Amino acid sequence: LAMNYRGPYRIRADYNMPYPEILHPRDAIIRVTRSCICGSDLHLYHGLVPDTRVGTTFGHEFTGIVEEVGPDVHNLKKGDHVLVPFNIACGGCPFCKQELFGNCHESNPEATAVGGIFGYSHTAGGYDGGQAEYVRVPYADIGPVVIPADMDADDAVLLTDVVPTGYQAAEMAGIKKGDTVVVFGAGPIGIMAARCAWLFGAGRVIVIDHIEYRLEFARHYAPCEAYNFRSLEDPVLFIKKTTGYFGADVCIDAVGCEAAGSAMQTITGRKLMLQAGSATALHWAINSVKKGGIVSIVGVYGPTGNLIPIGNVVNKGITIRANQASVKRLLPRLIEHVQAGRINPRELVSHKVPLEEVSDAYHIFSSKLDNCIKTILVPPS
Ligand code: NAD
Ligand code: ZN
Repeated sequence: LAMNYRGPYRIRADYNMPYPEILHPRDAIIRVTRSCICGSDLHLYHGLVPDTRVGTTFGHEFTGIVEEVGPDVHNLKKGDHVLVPFNIACGGCPFCKQELFGNCHESNPEATAVGGIFGYSHTAGGYDGGQAEYVRVPYADIGPVVIPADMDADDAVLLTDVVPTGYQAAEMAGIKKGDTVVVFGAGPIGIMAARCAWLFGAGRVIVIDHIEYRLEFARHYAPCEAYNFRSLEDPVLFIKKTTGYFGADVCIDAVGCEAAGSAMQTITGRKLMLQAGSATALHWAINSVKKGGIVSIVGVYGPTGNLIPIGNVVNKGITIRANQASVKRLLPRLIEHVQAGRINPRELVSHKVPLEEVSDAYHIFSSKLDNCIKTILVPPS
């Protein structure tokens, strides 16, 4: 059983998907215990990521039991319960050697940008993902980490992406003690970024979204101030006013490219319905950060040619820092944060459903129905 992509907004649970096999001595086969749906999967689901092929399986956030290892995998054995970073990284290329595990060359040599990612289209290497009963894990001697015995299984699966991405968003933002941090997006990533901003010494954390139940969740979880941009005349003006017209010290984009009609754009004072793939939050981030400030982008932009107000970047002397999270680099310290209770990832989980219901689960997460924040898919045992 695996999730099978049939085209934009069309996926199904499929009992006829092929069983993955060891193709390389460094591969492992994992029997999935949990997999999540991520905001990144929504870009695929909305048809915004080039070369997303019909018949592929999504899912880059998963945990599982090692079923089989190739002859060159010595750090794992059959029966280990592991969490698997969403990046596929060889560990030996020039980028992996700098701990840029999200930019591995070998796992996706034809691409000039991203490294390999499980279940993330052929632009990210064409690997099948973990929204399945079984998944092939390449370079299994590098990525998977045995889940500590005392760790909750839901916490573990959120360490494959949500926690490291939220944390890296805050880290890249270069937060200094007392800084005002504005996070665009109150999805799991934005909420986690807001939470982690405090670990870096933030003095004030503001989250912007338009989904009330998510704003309410963020207020308590981060904790933070949270505002609905639909009830603000102009979010940029609001941020300027609330910072004495200086602007935020740092802004974090935890939205990425948007599906058509998902939000309302107010650029140059005009309200427009969004077009698919637009970058409203990033505009707002650039326009509301202070001069010399930092904009940290973890939102994913599938389509090429997104227009950003580059003139304002230049004139304000803004530093833009962006990347896919380097999960493996961050795991040791994040496991510690989770074990110490400084981050409680499992509180984000609003839905836990059988993998058979994957189609409904995508619809609910995409449409932000039923107070959905984070969905875990559980394969049949
Ligand atoms: P999500 O869809 O659950 O959340 C996105 C939130 O943004 C929603 O609540 C939506 O209402 C809100 N939003 C939409 N337009 C907005 C706007 N103009 N201003 C403010 N908020 C707006 O997704 P998620 O799982 O939280 O992921 C968020 C982003 O992070 C996605 O783009 C995803 O692809 C990306 N991501 C990046 C990495 C990485 O390594 N860089 C990893 C995981 C996810
Ligand atoms: Zn993800």
